[in-house]
Amino acid sequence: MFRSINAIEFNKRFCDNESCYQYLIAWKWGKGYSCSRCGCGESIKGRTYYHRRCKQCRYDESVTANTVFHDLKMPLLKAFHMVFRLTAKKKGMSTTELGAEVGVQQKTAWLFKRKVQVVMKQDNHKKLKGNVDADETLPGFHTDRKHGGRNLEEREALLVAAEILPDGRTGNLRIQHIENFQALTLKYALRDMISQQAAIRTDDYTSYHTIQQDGMANINPERSQQGKAFEEIHRQIMQFKNWLVGIHHKWSAQHLFAYADEYVFRFNKRNNRKGIFHSVISRMMHQVPHPYPVIKTSCAYST
Ligand SMILES: [Zn+2]
Repeated sequence: MFRSINAIEFNKRFCDNESCYQYLIAWKWGKGYSCSRCGCGESIKGRTYYHRRCKQCRYDESVTANTVFHDLKMPLLKAFHMVFRLTAKKKGMSTTELGAEVGVQQKTAWLFKRKVQVVMKQDNHKKLKGNVDADETLPGFHTDRKHGGRNLEEREALLVAAEILPDGRTGNLRIQHIENFQALTLKYALRDMISQQAAIRTDDYTSYHTIQQDGMANINPERSQQGKAFEEIHRQIMQFKNWLVGIHHKWSAQHLFAYADEYVFRFNKRNNRKGIFHSVISRMMHQVPHPYPVIKTSCAYST
């Protein structure tokens, strides 16, 4: 039922709103019904084919209630098409393209995509393991902290960490937004992303030495030898920056964390791309809804 899916299968399977609702019904009630109000396990027919009414308390619940699909501003079929495009495409899509392909306004596409990005949020329980390289970057700026100072006012910095496999390639990736380059900030960001059993390698920036002296045993700051020692992580950072600019053109600093989450989610699932669709829908069905006003912020919509 929930196996991997390609574009042809997708179009065949999700041809109208009803087929999408049936799919959500299978996610929500496929293994049995339980009333979200009183916990009763028995239901009768609800108001529509995608409602179930509790036999005991009579609460009539839609399949999208208490899920991210609640209060959708477009037909469910369009939302499914968007999730499919955002997950099946190697690099995802800008909301300008997304809106045009699915037939909704860019603003609507942007708001929905933010909801999808929220469920792609990086999981702090899944920490990087083994040999991990870490480095910081300032997307959108040519200067880095080594040449451009450490004043981050009006700049956004990211800490990138990657598992380096025995053959030199990257395993899983994590990217976190950081406020500054102080030892304490970097230390907690590293702890969030990387297992305490992993061996972390960084360049020899002062803050990393401070972290080491403060007792973080698994960090090893090392001379970068003009970047040669850190080729793989630098390549990953370049790829992320290229993606950010290539897909999103005018990304907004305020949502940089969300783009990082989206990128990392897709990157870490790159070997099972066809399964991402189901995984995202499943997360959307199991998370509480994020009301648009929470997601929508004062800044202009990015692409
Ligand atoms: Zn009930």
